Amino acid sequence: MALVNEHFLQLSENYLFAEIAKKVNAYKVLHPKQKIISLGIGDVTQPLCPAVIKAIHEATDEMTRPETFHGYGPERGYAFLRDAIIKNDFQPRGVRLDSSEIFISDGAKSDLGNIGDILRWDNSVAVTDPVYPVYVDSNAMAGRAGICQDGIWSDISYLPTTAENDFCPALPKRGIDIIYLCYPNNPTGTTLTKAQLEKWVKYALKEEALILFDAAYEAYIQEDGIPHSIYEIRGAKKCAIEFHSYSKTAGFTGIRCGYTVVPKEVAATTLSGQRVTLNHLWERRQSTKFNGTSYISQRAAEAIYTPEGKQQIREQIAYYMENARLMRETLTAMGLTVYGGVNAPYIWLRTPGKSGSWTFFEEMLYATGIVCTPGAGFGPSGEGYVRLTAFGSREDCLEAMERLKKWKL
Ligand code: PLP
Repeated sequence: MALVNEHFLQLSENYLFAEIAKKVNAYKVLHPKQKIISLGIGDVTQPLCPAVIKAIHEATDEMTRPETFHGYGPERGYAFLRDAIIKNDFQPRGVRLDSSEIFISDGAKSDLGNIGDILRWDNSVAVTDPVYPVYVDSNAMAGRAGICQDGIWSDISYLPTTAENDFCPALPKRGIDIIYLCYPNNPTGTTLTKAQLEKWVKYALKEEALILFDAAYEAYIQEDGIPHSIYEIRGAKKCAIEFHSYSKTAGFTGIRCGYTVVPKEVAATTLSGQRVTLNHLWERRQSTKFNGTSYISQRAAEAIYTPEGKQQIREQIAYYMENARLMRETLTAMGLTVYGGVNAPYIWLRTPGKSGSWTFFEEMLYATGIVCTPGAGFGPSGEGYVRLTAFGSREDCLEAMERLKKWKL
């Protein structure tokens, strides 16, 4: 008899965005003529930049000729891309990595979800709260999260990250084995300074814990003094795995490419006390369960590191960050309290009065036709906030701000 993995049965039926879609559909039925503007879901809207498109065309042409055709690629990804990553994303920041420490992926979500395969099911886990839901749900699937009651998992340590602590979570009170950090943060749009991140690295080294650092929004950092990689912190190579994505950096949400850094020094312990390097285990896991992201996607990603590619993606990021600036300024001028939007494409808006985040979501939808994401969907400390994204077109962003200004809050 086949038995089901019952951990899946505890996962909430209503994935956040499915619930939002349901509520938006109900609104559409009642208001068929209203144009809805989505500042909710975190997908990009601008097309791929010309350097990437050129690389995709060239790589596609290569696939048409026997002498340049590419089948299965190298297990860690093509050397041309891993070398470009080291040269452009790490060397300029004083981080030395070997290309065998880089694993090309089909995006950060898969690797963030799969990394638990190489870690025991009974490790204790901490997440900052609110948080990108994939971290908690993937641990729940593995049986690491315990029992879920009212959306809160018994074995996950939630570290409140709110305006009250300036979005800088306190270190866990008890010893934790695995810590998820995401900076710049989705959903709050906030960052940590180097000194703040240093505390986490120190903690992890002391506890022999592992930090899973999600740097998916690193390219959006505008200010100096904010680490783009956890490896800018001394000692981090001994205790952190870092996840990168080209999805938001270069509009690759539909192309699919990212990478994960597993330094040779990072290790975890067996029950008998032996330290095991995770680089080898991750390679073993990937070579069994993953057959690489396409040659065409990897050539497309390589093009981001050419001089033209760099300039073009910088312009695209500037476009989204200008949306973020317009949103921040409009909302602040309306007397609302907003966070984020300076080093990240997300605005974290405090709901006025005592409105719950789902209530405010519906009020905004019915008053303006604008969709946001209720903060409570990202964890208990997201209650009292909503997330707005800057990934829309400029026209939509401007129209949304006009509608909001007219809304007598
Ligand atoms: N990490 C964070 C924090 C995200 O917000 C997202 C996507 O929204 C991802 C990872 C996933 O990125 P990818 O498209 O590379 O799978």
